[in-house]
Amino acid sequence: MPLVNDHYLKLAAGYFFPEIARRVGAFAESHPALAPRIIRCGVGDVTEPLPPAAVAAMHAAADELAHRASFRGYGPATGHDFVRNAIVEGDFRARGIGMDADEIFLSDGSKPDASAFLEILASGTPDRGGNRIAVCDPVYPVYVDNNVMQGNTGPALPGGGYEGIVYLRATPENGFVPEPPTEPVDVAFLCFPNNPTGSVATREQLGRWVKWALEHDALICFDAAYEAYVRDPALPRSIFEVPGADRCAIEFRSFSKNGGFTGVRGGYTVVPKAVEGRTASGERVPLHRLWTRRWSTCSNGVSWPVQRAIAALYTPEGQEQMAALVDFYMGNAAILRQACVDLGLRTWGGDHAPYVWVQCPRGLGSWEAFDLLLTREQLVVTPGAGFGRCGEGFFRISAFNSRENVEEAGRRLAVLTAHEPARA
Ligand SMILES: *Cc1c(COP(=O)(O)O)cnc(C)c1O
Repeated sequence: MPLVNDHYLKLAAGYFFPEIARRVGAFAESHPALAPRIIRCGVGDVTEPLPPAAVAAMHAAADELAHRASFRGYGPATGHDFVRNAIVEGDFRARGIGMDADEIFLSDGSKPDASAFLEILASGTPDRGGNRIAVCDPVYPVYVDNNVMQGNTGPALPGGGYEGIVYLRATPENGFVPEPPTEPVDVAFLCFPNNPTGSVATREQLGRWVKWALEHDALICFDAAYEAYVRDPALPRSIFEVPGADRCAIEFRSFSKNGGFTGVRGGYTVVPKAVEGRTASGERVPLHRLWTRRWSTCSNGVSWPVQRAIAALYTPEGQEQMAALVDFYMGNAAILRQACVDLGLRTWGGDHAPYVWVQCPRGLGSWEAFDLLLTREQLVVTPGAGFGRCGEGFFRISAFNSRENVEEAGRRLAVLTAHEPARA
């Protein structure tokens, strides 16, 4: 009988999105007349169609595959040069950041990359030769759950979270941008603009993180999935805008939220050649070498039509169409944010991120606010508690929706301040 990876069994009662779906489903079933009224501003999935430049490129790629002369088989596992060069030029050199094309690793998205990257780091808890991991609280659950599955943590704790992980509190007091830890940490996961809080780190704040990582030989895994949503040119869109980050950081990038590729699947990870780890015996090893090896052994890369579509996003039309998509969602975010502010709710995010983060009024818990909005107004938001202990007392509203739904959602939020809460 095969032995299983029993670290999977440590995962606490599952990802919380299924619980949201369960409550919404149960409500719809028991209130069939109200079911069509449900507006979902919960899960962060895009709603608008792909940029036409990407669609045309995929059609053209399908035609290329249909003819012997233009047929493509296996390509380089880490991506074709024309795509990696377009990325280096468009996302980095254009912003004054030096980078080589072979430091870009094309993939099917950031979630798989954030998971796979742990394969090249030691696994196990810190007392058993593994790394001490730090995450923000609240946090995108993917970073935590993958570390649990790799055996890098102890069991789930009764109050939430896992033994062995360093949780960095993101609160109104620090503007939801935690400072670097004072205790020993080997690997820190950061995400700015942030999911779920919508917060964004300044150049000075990221500068302190890079300084910390260089001083402590730590690694920063920076998730820049929402970089396209940064409106203020003074705010960094990449950790590599901070000098020295190319010696202590890797960066996850995704085409899901800027190009609408959540269903197409496409992203990349930047691993600079100067970023190092060490062996148990203390020898320094470039992570680039291990990550290259990992790709050539475990993958044959991203499909040809998707690589063509990614390259199309970097053409002038593609860039324009992506900017229009992001502008549309940011218009939604502004409407939702304003609706919350007008109701007197304490509100963050929504100005450089497609998420608005709201404090539940009148002492309501996250799930109480969720249930109130669902049962009275058929509006689905995401309870902050699902993202970590520090998310309790908050909820997230996603701007990924139609303009009509967003305007209606803004009106329905009034129930939070207009009625006494239905307490159990
Ligand atoms: C949506 C999202 C991603 C993108 O993941 P993909 O696998 O590329 O679709 C990455 N990080 C965060 C925090 C996200 O919210």
